[in-house]
Amino acid sequence: MSEQQTRTSRLAALPLRDELRGQAPYGAPQLAVPAMLNVNETTYDVPSDVVDAIAKEVRRAAESLNRYPDREFSLLRQKLAEYLNRELARDASDFGAAAVQLTGEHIWAGNGSNEVMQHILQAFAGPGRSVMSFPPTYSMYPLYARGVYSDYIAGTRGPGYTQTPDDVAAQIRAHRPHVVILCSPNNPTGTALDLAVVETAYEAALDTETMVIVDEAYGEFRQPGTPSALTLLPGRPQLIVTRTMSKAFALAGGRLGYLAAAPEVTDALRLVRLPYHLSAITQAAACAALDHAADLMANVERIKAQRDRIVVELRGMGLDPYPSDSNFVFFGGLLNEKDAWQHLLDDGVLVRDVGIPGHLRVTAGTEEETTAFLTSLARLAENSTAGVTAER
Ligand SMILES: *Cc1c(COP(=O)(O)O)cnc(C)c1O
Repeated sequence: MSEQQTRTSRLAALPLRDELRGQAPYGAPQLAVPAMLNVNETTYDVPSDVVDAIAKEVRRAAESLNRYPDREFSLLRQKLAEYLNRELARDASDFGAAAVQLTGEHIWAGNGSNEVMQHILQAFAGPGRSVMSFPPTYSMYPLYARGVYSDYIAGTRGPGYTQTPDDVAAQIRAHRPHVVILCSPNNPTGTALDLAVVETAYEAALDTETMVIVDEAYGEFRQPGTPSALTLLPGRPQLIVTRTMSKAFALAGGRLGYLAAAPEVTDALRLVRLPYHLSAITQAAACAALDHAADLMANVERIKAQRDRIVVELRGMGLDPYPSDSNFVFFGGLLNEKDAWQHLLDDGVLVRDVGIPGHLRVTAGTEEETTAFLTSLARLAENSTAGVTAER
């Protein structure tokens, strides 16, 4: 027996929960290659002045690690509210988005938005309840549901993976899930939802007693003029908007995700969180990063420019890129996505195979990384028998 078979049979011998038998964990490959463009991180390094600021605050926190951290992470919540208020004020003045003011009372945070989502499902889903999302979407949603013993309902999308208000509302009314997750901009397709979809979904959700989650992990990369679902929060206590510092903030390793919602939603989450879930180190690092938000996000515009460049150049190669409001591009038109994925990897470019035939997803990196990706793919496309489908 191989070592892997031995481990598998040892796992099978454990008194594991039945529904976990034969299941696979989340596992995007972590390969060290020159262009790592498969998990939508910001590929620019953290600027050195921000590194210094984080190190200084973490050092200060280390002096009192003998004590438990602030269980309410009050300073962090306040800074997150101020950060979102700055974005909301910018959108209000740039294109007349609704003016909304958030306070720390509206904010909740966890070790990545993954943990925030787990808190939401622990409080509002759980055994005997159900969670609905609309594939193709973030592959973690069914895993979160499984982790809290909830049923997972896969909703459907229209042509080109689009969602319309009436269709989403009808599916909520038909399935009556306890939690529905809308992902905007959606991963892996990249496109943001029209807010009318969220509004109409919310109307249905009031009738079906459903919590509506809008996952805006990529919110900062939205195309100009696209409002955030944060603007819909006033008067909607069953609406939650989740965000993360993992993407635009260039802090995936810091593990800090958060949400904005009515204050009573955060009271519900206090019932399920483990005490002191955010370490003093995490709070200190995130607060220092938020104090330097402008520096950390200085590359967002550069990344958006590379994203838009990818869309234009892929079209020029005869491929089918989707409109993107995020820091990645989803594209179709490949003869064989597995061959294309391997061809790119052989050239030192790691992208994501999201399991959709003929399609791949690529993160917009630095200009050099993007060039490496486009050059490699162009070589594949030139050899049209290997690269690009004939009928489109
Ligand atoms: C990357 C991503 C997240 C972020 O997860 P973290 O735990 O905050 O790193 C959340 N939702 C979607 C759709 C994502 O793609």
